[in-house]
Amino acid sequence: MKIINSPAAMAAWSDKINRAGKTIALVPTMGSFHEGHLSLMRLAATKADYVVVSLFVNPIQFGPQEDLGRYPRDFERDASLAGKQGVDVLFAPDASAVYPEGFRTVVHVEGLTGILCGVGRPGHFDGVTTVVAKLFNMVRPFCAVFGEKDFQQLVVIRRLVADLNWDIRIYSHPIVREGDGLAMSSRNSYLSASERKSALVLYGSLKLARRRVLEEDVASARLVEEIREFLTADSRVSVEYVNLVNKDSLLPSRAVDSDTVLLLSVRIGSTRLIDNGKLIQGV
Ligand code: AMP
Repeated sequence: MKIINSPAAMAAWSDKINRAGKTIALVPTMGSFHEGHLSLMRLAATKADYVVVSLFVNPIQFGPQEDLGRYPRDFERDASLAGKQGVDVLFAPDASAVYPEGFRTVVHVEGLTGILCGVGRPGHFDGVTTVVAKLFNMVRPFCAVFGEKDFQQLVVIRRLVADLNWDIRIYSHPIVREGDGLAMSSRNSYLSASERKSALVLYGSLKLARRRVLEEDVASARLVEEIREFLTADSRVSVEYVNLVNKDSLLPSRAVDSDTVLLLSVRIGSTRLIDNGKLIQGV
């Protein structure tokens, strides 16, 4: 596996591959790899001739009070794991190369970014769309793979690609979970043993919601209320949002149908955790 640090060297490598008529799949990440990231890499390998994984803890998507400073980093471990998945290039630029002095441009997707996670994290999605736009221009991929774990991010990226006429296919991978149902996340490492137990309320909420939808024709507002009650029954959990939305528009679902996704965000201690899932599957 090749390690590339400079954006110019990355673009030169990609140009060579593209001129040879071969395709590149990009997997954008912030490192601290777990099985979720590795699954995205393996999916990417089935979609193109070469896989590039970017590893960049993007400073502009973190708010001033957020965890940029303590975000887990272990380059050697990540490089070894990516190498074992058959990744061709690990692209790990420095922040100063991505945002050199004088950098002034922001890529902003309207509407979809001011709701849900955008409420508690103002500016977060501008950071994401700006860095993804830059990564697309540096890596020049045929396709890119994102995880459904960050469901709103996936919807925003699809909008971005369509709106800017990028000829880049976006693939998504389902959420990869621990054996007990907790969605894998680099931020799970912040949880104490007791907080880790409390974090199971997220998966518990999905199971509860799926069961309730099977039991009766429960109204969306009622279901949201029941999930809130379930979450807050654990005093360690504070709810940021519970929403039932359409999977494409992110607009509230009045009635639960096969396009409805439950989106959850909670805080447990100082750690913010998100999860989501469809309530009616395979329809
Ligand atoms: P991150 O490094 O957290 O920015 O995540 C990089 C990519 O991996 C994003 O597209 C995430 O949605 C995806 N990802 C993170 N955790 C999971 C997971 N548990 N299952 C599936 N995809 C994930």
